[in-house]
Amino acid sequence: MLFAQNNYFRPMKIEIDKDAGFCFGVSHAIKMAEEYLKDHSYLYCLGDIVHNKSEVKRLSDLGLRIIDYSIFRQLKDETVLIRAHGEPVETYKIASQNNIDLIEGTCPIVTRLQKMIREEASENQPQVVIFGKKNHPEAIGLASRVSSNVQITQNTEELELDYCKPVYVYSQTTMDKELYEVFYLHIQERAEHECSNPHVRVQDSVCGKVANRAKQIRDFVGHHDVVIFVSGANSSNGNYLFQVARKVNPNTYFVSDVDQLNSDWLKQAESVGISGATSTPVWLMEKVKARISQMD
Ligand code: SF4
Repeated sequence: MLFAQNNYFRPMKIEIDKDAGFCFGVSHAIKMAEEYLKDHSYLYCLGDIVHNKSEVKRLSDLGLRIIDYSIFRQLKDETVLIRAHGEPVETYKIASQNNIDLIEGTCPIVTRLQKMIREEASENQPQVVIFGKKNHPEAIGLASRVSSNVQITQNTEELELDYCKPVYVYSQTTMDKELYEVFYLHIQERAEHECSNPHVRVQDSVCGKVANRAKQIRDFVGHHDVVIFVSGANSSNGNYLFQVARKVNPNTYFVSDVDQLNSDWLKQAESVGISGATSTPVWLMEKVKARISQMD
């Protein structure tokens, strides 16, 4: 355990949350990129490999080139990494037409969910609802496994359903489990109310890593006077976990890198916790810990 001095010359305990850091899916995709770049000077990746600028910069320095769809469509005879979120079916078609080798970094949990949606949606021609963010690549990839009658939303008011026909409900893996429950219970209740023979099938597809993180972070932040939450500003998981942490411990501060740390936050603290999102690298939390230990 590392101790630093705060302004009142009391020893300050600094602890990194052992449960914070990359989830399995993100680690898996990053390892694939690192392995490939040991023998090649560059590798294309479709979209940010992880929602963390510092980690993207580290990998870019190794040769990772982040591209968007407009560049991807113009590539020919190249190799492209698919990140953990997965990709819509269309991406695989373009790759095949343009002789692009894909390195499959889709998280195996997302792959399993894509397959489940594709198979179940062909069974009964159900109306498919994906509880997720409309512009999120994972949700778009999941929806692409269904040829028609699919909607992505987090808002029950936006639902357009015939409740007397089969409805299959899935969640993007990174959504909040409790909000998902509220969402699908609304659909089930509405179907029971409107139809004598309702058929609503719900899959609990929130990733266990994400679902458990909320509970873990509540426990962790409750044990510290001040918490520094490290995450990319564009990480939806990071923003969600930060809100969870702040509800339990109002002295929780969001930073994306060490230059955003403020020594005023630590003045009264005897114990500082450092935590992060499933997209926050451990090396960055260690950098934050080292910087805090130098503050006095
Ligand atoms: S959050 Fe879960 S499902 Fe999503 S990439 Fe990480 S391990 Fe895979």
